Amino acid sequence: MSAEHELEVLNPATEEVVATVPAADAADVDRAVARAAVAQRSWAAAAPADRARLLRRFADVVDTHIEELAQLEVREAGHLLGNARWEAGNARDLLLYAAGGAERLLGRQIPVPGGWNVTFQEPLGVVGVIAPWNFPMPIAAWGSFPALAAGNAVVLKPAETTPLTALRLAELALEAGLPEGLFHVLPGYGHIAGRALVDHPDVAKLVFTGSTRTGREVMERCARLVKPVTLELGGKSPNIVFADADLKSAIDPFSFLDNSGQDCCARTRILVQESVYDEVRDLLADALSTVVVGDPADEKTQMGPLISRQQLDRVRSFVPEDAPALRGSAPDGPGFWYAPTVLTGERHDSAAAREEIFGPVAVLLPFTDEQDAIRLANDTPYGLAGSLWTRDLGRALRVSQAVRAGNLSVNSHSAVRYWTPFGGFKQSGVGRELGPDALAAFTETKNVFISTEGSAQ
Ligand code: NDP
Repeated sequence: MSAEHELEVLNPATEEVVATVPAADAADVDRAVARAAVAQRSWAAAAPADRARLLRRFADVVDTHIEELAQLEVREAGHLLGNARWEAGNARDLLLYAAGGAERLLGRQIPVPGGWNVTFQEPLGVVGVIAPWNFPMPIAAWGSFPALAAGNAVVLKPAETTPLTALRLAELALEAGLPEGLFHVLPGYGHIAGRALVDHPDVAKLVFTGSTRTGREVMERCARLVKPVTLELGGKSPNIVFADADLKSAIDPFSFLDNSGQDCCARTRILVQESVYDEVRDLLADALSTVVVGDPADEKTQMGPLISRQQLDRVRSFVPEDAPALRGSAPDGPGFWYAPTVLTGERHDSAAAREEIFGPVAVLLPFTDEQDAIRLANDTPYGLAGSLWTRDLGRALRVSQAVRAGNLSVNSHSAVRYWTPFGGFKQSGVGRELGPDALAAFTETKNVFISTEGSAQ
């Protein structure tokens, strides 16, 4: 088979081949979309309570496979075992949450003269989901499960480096009794299978998570078909630390080291009030020196490898050997390892301070006062997430209103939660996932007016 026809999945901690998987081409996408369209019609016609029951059964089956899914994620993505268990649990929990939504997809009755007016939330049809490699299970789930609950079928293309947990989730869906073709996972290359899904006229909506560059292309191609999109793209999120903050909690290095920094919400711009800059730098130096980087399957490990050689090269390209920096350590030998790093000599407008590196690298930058902090935080094309740390309640409120980002945490580095909406301002994305309105994003609103003025017989 040629390289175009298969995907070789590597363990990023060892560089050993974990699996080889056939890669879908445009004809496979056509077939999957056609089958999904058939499955969707009966799924949409089923009673919401029956859809909800099947999704809950799917959640139960996922629950009995948490350990297996987690072990698979450790092998294909190099995630820490504890994190991977959480990620599989997140997929299960979202299924349960979305299942409840299937039964509460309410329309409205709107008072109008001359009759009754009601609205319906109708499913779109077949939804295409393109997922990245950084959180293969949760991100596949966030795009797919609310769409299913709202009465759609889903064709999901996982990243070429991490197709295995998505494939397993599709098998578990069948085991739970979801109809054949309703949740179809098609591993493949972005420029082949991904593009075919984007361009397919029978895919009614596209959900994409990944880089801003590819997201822009997806949006342009969808525009030709007037196809709606949800885009979750890059980030360069600030961590704003005021002098009055609980500094130790504020500079928790896992706010940018979690998942080896391959996290669109990573707080990679540490903005520190200048009066505590030296203290924060010393605290960070101590914290980095104790981070345990190594085998992700070992429960004592705190940070694993990067996903691929390509990602390792990308991260290295932002950090010259002689750059002033605080550094932790990382293993030698096989695997895609990079030591935790905080760059201390960067300017606010340097590439490392502005671009999404997607590795365990942050920049430490001083600010003078509240206005300066807000100016620096907002001086980026991104607007996904951010944290701010202060004991002054008024300031916490002012700054959270002034920072233009979709997900802010005050005195916390909280992660994405399925109960609350998630998405970005500016070039971090379009639309929102998760939260109470997640299903609505996978519906069209239909308005029906019923005249009460017809002739009575
Ligand atoms: P991409 O955005 O290119 O990939 C994300 C997904 O899109 C993958 O499934 C990919 O497939 C697919 N894809 C690629 N090209 C196309 C296309 N033309 N049409 C449709 N789908 C396509 O990200 P990369 O994996 O290349 O990572 C590069 C950088 O992107 C990272 O360093 C990071 O900065 C950023 N990124 C951000 C993420 C986020 O969560 N915001 C997630 C991942 C990356 P395939 O796997 O075959 O390439």
